[in-house]
Amino acid sequence: MAKYVWSDYVGAMRPDVLNPLFAESGSLKGVGPGLARPLEKLGLTRVKDLAYHLPDRFVARRAVANLDEAGVGEQIVVALTPREYKQSAGRGPFRVMAEDALGNYIALTYFGRASYSGKKQLPLDEKRWVAGRLDQYGQTWQMVHPDHVSEDSAGMLGHLNEPVYPLSDGLTQGRLQALVHQSLEGLPELPEWIEPGLAAKMDWPRWHEALPLAHKAEHPQARDRLAYDELLANSLALLLVRESNRAKKGTPLHGDGRLRAKLNLPFELTGAQKRSIAEIEGDVAQGAPMLRLLQGDVGSGKTAVALNAMLIAVEAGGQAALLAPTEILARQHAETLSRMAAGTGVTIALLTGRDKGKARESILMGLLDGSIDICVGTHAIFQDTVAYRNLTLAVIDEQHRFGVGQRLMLSQKAKRTPHCLAMTATPIPRTLTLAQYGEMDVSRLDEMPPGRQAIDTRVVAQDRLADVIEGIGRHIAKGAQAYWVCPMVRELETADIAAAEARHALLSERFGDTVVMVHGQMRPEAKDAAMERFARGDAKLLVATTVIEVGVDVPNATLMVIEQAERFGLAQLHQLRGRVGRGSQQSTCLLLRGDALSETGRERLALMRETQDGFRLAEEDLRLRGGGELLGTRQSGDTPFKVADFEQIARLLPLAHDDARLLMERDGGLSSPRGEAARTLLYLFERDWGVQLLRGG
Ligand code: ADP
Ligand code: MG
Repeated sequence: MAKYVWSDYVGAMRPDVLNPLFAESGSLKGVGPGLARPLEKLGLTRVKDLAYHLPDRFVARRAVANLDEAGVGEQIVVALTPREYKQSAGRGPFRVMAEDALGNYIALTYFGRASYSGKKQLPLDEKRWVAGRLDQYGQTWQMVHPDHVSEDSAGMLGHLNEPVYPLSDGLTQGRLQALVHQSLEGLPELPEWIEPGLAAKMDWPRWHEALPLAHKAEHPQARDRLAYDELLANSLALLLVRESNRAKKGTPLHGDGRLRAKLNLPFELTGAQKRSIAEIEGDVAQGAPMLRLLQGDVGSGKTAVALNAMLIAVEAGGQAALLAPTEILARQHAETLSRMAAGTGVTIALLTGRDKGKARESILMGLLDGSIDICVGTHAIFQDTVAYRNLTLAVIDEQHRFGVGQRLMLSQKAKRTPHCLAMTATPIPRTLTLAQYGEMDVSRLDEMPPGRQAIDTRVVAQDRLADVIEGIGRHIAKGAQAYWVCPMVRELETADIAAAEARHALLSERFGDTVVMVHGQMRPEAKDAAMERFARGDAKLLVATTVIEVGVDVPNATLMVIEQAERFGLAQLHQLRGRVGRGSQQSTCLLLRGDALSETGRERLALMRETQDGFRLAEEDLRLRGGGELLGTRQSGDTPFKVADFEQIARLLPLAHDDARLLMERDGGLSSPRGEAARTLLYLFERDWGVQLLRGG
C-alpha cells in the first residue's frame, strides 16, 4: 500500500467549490426565524442538507369533483368550502369542517403549530382547492395536514405529481419544496470521484445532475449514484483512519492479572467472553493502538468484557474511560461496574454534563492526578477541560452514537493514542460488518450466558386492546413492570406524539400515576425523571416511543407491548424486545398488529416469534426491507448513512469498499486527479475528521 501521511491530508482546507453548499439554510430566500427550528429538527441547517433531503416517495394526485369519487388512502385534489372550526380540548387537534360540492363533510385536521396556518389558509365560507391524502376518522372523511391549499384550481396544477418529503412540525410540503428547489439552483460541477468505468456501466449521471433528478421523479440511477457517493466516502474515510491508526504510537499494555484475580463475578464467563477478552489483551499489548469492535446482542454480557479490558489498563498503570450514549446509561454503567469491581480496590467515577461545581472539580482533579482509575460518562468526558494523567483505554458503548470523528477527538486526550474498544448491540448482517466498520477488528459475542429464558413472543390483533390492558393489570398486580411502545413516524411527528399521549392518558385512567411516559419531544430532565421513576420501580408502566431502544436495564420489567408492530423493522423490534427478558423471570412480548398486514409484514412478525438470534434477524431484516411500508425506511436507522438506504447499503457497499481499497492502494496520498476528487467527496460528506481534529486541538 502506498505510503500515506494523515497530516498531508488534513492540512488542506475545504475546497472553495463546496462553500455555497455549506452556507446556512438561513441564507436562502424566505427563511425567517420561524423556520429555523423546524429545519434544525430535520437536520437541514445548511444548503447541502436541503439538497440531500431526498423525497420519501412521489405522489400522483387525482383531481376529483367530490369526495364520493375518491377512495380512502387516495391522494386527491378537491374543491372544498370550510364551514366551521373545531378546537378540541387540551393538546388535541384543530379541525376545519369543510363541505364538498355534494354536501359531503370532511375534517381537515391540524396538530400543534400547524393549526395557525390551517386557520389562515381556510377562511370560512370561501371555496378553496385542497390537496392531500383522504383518510377516515370515525364516520367522517378526514385529511390530516393537507399538503396544499390554493384559491384556484390553476394553483394546483403543479401539485398533481410531486415529491413527498419528510416533514417536521411547522413545515409544509410546499415550503420545503420551495427551499429544496433553491438549494439546487446553481449546483457546482464537482470533479468526478467515481471510477469512470463503473459510472458508465451503471449508467449513473454526474453528481450535479443526479441531485435534481432524484428530487424530480423516481430515478434509481440518480439515487444509486448519490448513495454510492456516500458509501464511497465512508469506506475511504475508514481506510484512512485504519492506515493512520497503524502509523500511530500507542502504549503497549501488559496487565499482570492481579486486579482481575480479585474480580468476584457471580458467574462464569462464557466462552465467547473469554475469547473476546483474550483478543483484546493481545491487541493492547501491541505498539499500535487497538481499534476493536465488540459486537454482541443485548444481554450477551459486553459489560463484563469491558470491565476486564479496563482492568488490564489499570493493572498496567493507566486509566480507562467508558463513554455511554446517555446519562442514564452512564449512571447504570457506573453502578454496575462499581458493584462488579468492588473487591478490586479500583476507583471508579461518574462524570456527566450535569455535574457542576465542587463535585465536578474533585472528579477533574482525580482524573488529572490519577487517583481515579476508571471514568464513566457521557460526551462530557470529551470536553477540553477534562485532562487525564494517563488515559490508555477508551471504551465506547453503542458505537453508532459516537462517530469515528468523535473517537478521534478522544484520542487527543492523551499524549499517546489510547486503545479503543467500541461496543455495539446493534446486530449487523455479517456481509456488512467489514464494510461498515472497515477500520476495526471485530470480536463477536455469539454465545448467550446460560440460563436465559426465551421471551414468549405473541402476535395479537389490535382490536384485542382491551384484553391486553386487562393482562397488564394482572401483570402489575403481581408486582412486575411493563413497557408500552408506540411507534413514531417522522412525516407527522406531532400526530404520533398525540397518539402516544392519548395512549398514556388511557392507561393512566386505568392504572393511575404508576404510569410514566417518555418521548422525543420531552425535555431531557423530564425524560430522565420518568425513566428514573421506572428504573427505581416506583412507576410500573412506561409508555414510550422508540427512545428506549438504546438503554435501560430494568430486570423487573418482564412484559412489553409494541403497538403497530408491523411498522417496525426486524432489527428495531429485536432491539426493543431486548429490554425485557433481562432478569430470571419469564418475559413476554406482545406484538399488536393492525388488520391491513402485508405479506412481508406477516413474515416479519412470524420471524420475531420464531427466533431470538439478533444476527439472524439482522440478516432477515436486510432481506425483507424496502417496500416503503416501514418506519423511516429511507433512513437507515443505526447505520452511519443518511443518503443510502438499507437496500442500497447491501447492494452497493461491498462495491464501494473494494473501490476505496483500490484507490488507496494506487494513490494512498490522494494526490492523483481522482484522488483530489475523492478529497472533495470526503469534505462533501463530512468525513474530513482530521480537520476537526486539528481544530479541536
Ligand atoms: P449487554 O451489555 O451485552 O447487553 P450486559 O453486560 O448488561 O449485556 O449483561 C447482561 C446480564 O447478563 C447482566 O445481568 C450480567 O450480569 C449477566 N451476565 C453477563 N455475563 C454473564 C455470564 N457469563 N453468565 C451469566 N450471566 C452473565
Ligand atoms: Mg450494555
